[in-house]
Amino acid sequence: MSDAVKLWTGEFYNEGVSGHSGLFDKLNEECGVFGVFGHPDASSLCYYGLHALQHRGQESAGICTADPDHFQYYRGMGLAKEVFNSETLGPLTGSSAIAHVRYSTAGESKLANAQPLVFKYREGDLAIATNGNLDNANIIKRNLEKQGSIFQTTSDTEVLAHLIARSKHDDIVDAVKDALQQVVGGFAFLILTRDKLIAALDPNGLRPFVIGRLGSAYLFASETCAFDAVGGTYYRDMKPGELLVLDRDGLHEDRFTEGGQRAICAMEYIYFARPDSDIDTINIHSARKRMGKRLATEAFVDADVVTGVPDSSISAAIGFAEQTGIPYELGLIKNRYTGRTFIQPSQELREQGVKMKLSAVRKVVEGKRVVMIDDSIVRGTTSLRIVNLLREAGATEVHVRISSPPFMNPCYYGIDTPSRKELIAAMHSLEEIRKAINADSLHFLSREGLLESIGEGSTGKQSGYCTACFDNSYPTEIVDVTKIGCACD
Ligand code: SF4
Repeated sequence: MSDAVKLWTGEFYNEGVSGHSGLFDKLNEECGVFGVFGHPDASSLCYYGLHALQHRGQESAGICTADPDHFQYYRGMGLAKEVFNSETLGPLTGSSAIAHVRYSTAGESKLANAQPLVFKYREGDLAIATNGNLDNANIIKRNLEKQGSIFQTTSDTEVLAHLIARSKHDDIVDAVKDALQQVVGGFAFLILTRDKLIAALDPNGLRPFVIGRLGSAYLFASETCAFDAVGGTYYRDMKPGELLVLDRDGLHEDRFTEGGQRAICAMEYIYFARPDSDIDTINIHSARKRMGKRLATEAFVDADVVTGVPDSSISAAIGFAEQTGIPYELGLIKNRYTGRTFIQPSQELREQGVKMKLSAVRKVVEGKRVVMIDDSIVRGTTSLRIVNLLREAGATEVHVRISSPPFMNPCYYGIDTPSRKELIAAMHSLEEIRKAINADSLHFLSREGLLESIGEGSTGKQSGYCTACFDNSYPTEIVDVTKIGCACD
């Protein structure tokens, strides 16, 4: 038993479904995008695609549809199923569409920033949906404002729209290329006009972005799980620096820049993406299982049960259990129906420890030495709460194993992260963190172990992952250090 057992503090109440109420200390997904070209039910496909991508953002949802005679959109706050019904989806006719689910920090959650953002451009209507972050957006914005531009939102996406509108090129594809050449960051863009759908991925391929097919129609999505949801099939991943244009003549493959060093976000494999998605043909669940197996070889501990923090750590926990022969058990259960609530518990209920989001299974952990697998430690507050949950349920020892290296640096490519001084691993030694989270032992997966675990399933055609939040090695120049987080905000 560790020397400083901290008892449950009673703070673990009323957490929003997306977990960014401030009480649940996890990283937050950026956004999800979905696009369709050449299908009569484009808006319905978007609706189901957004459902599948809902884990990437729960603050707002929107769909914009187009054909040569129509251009219409609907956006609202909340989950896709709350925003869309037959009344709001019905008018969205047209055979091409782009759609978006958005994550935002609570204070900036407003409809004006919901995407797709829709603009009047000199050549007609234009809608943009983004996943990611433009690191130099603030700098471009200040310059444009000096030249008289007026911004209606606080979204980076509007910066791209201004750059497109101000381009010297009349042709929309040339104007988009011109705009993309001026921005720095990690981004996946879908741009819709009445007759074209344009898709573009940043020069390092930081954000996941895949192309699918459904009959003769083309699909685009942040993750392949969205293709499964609509009966589509995976075609290929977008390439770094690529720009694809779909119009009545079909697919045109182009680039807006020569690709830089490929650097897919490693955290997508560790935590963000859904286990049934593949990124660059590597299945997420399988990669996480390999991380758990590798963690077991790097930091074995004798114990009675292995459990994973739901949902994202379960695959790694299964891998750890398989490798060690220690049985995997459901020691922690997540309440899936928490939703948003504004009711604060009374002091009496607080003292009784009303826990809305996560519970330990007493019959599983009581009297047992438990290995608790989690995917990351951010500030450390969540880990402390979960370790204490297990102890309160009777675990005699709690050994924490993390299926990623210590998270020490902020992300500038679309993941909402705290500043460096709030990251426990940036400020404290391993032993200090162990004590702070009240664990009997603590180990993180090595960077090499992580990369080998991800890459094992790769076809070998490509390699290169962003691991900047672990090793401070950013694949792009960081232009604006104040610009942390998501382009949607
Ligand atoms: S810094 Fe971390 S979270 Fe951000 S893109 Fe790189 S690996 Fe992903």
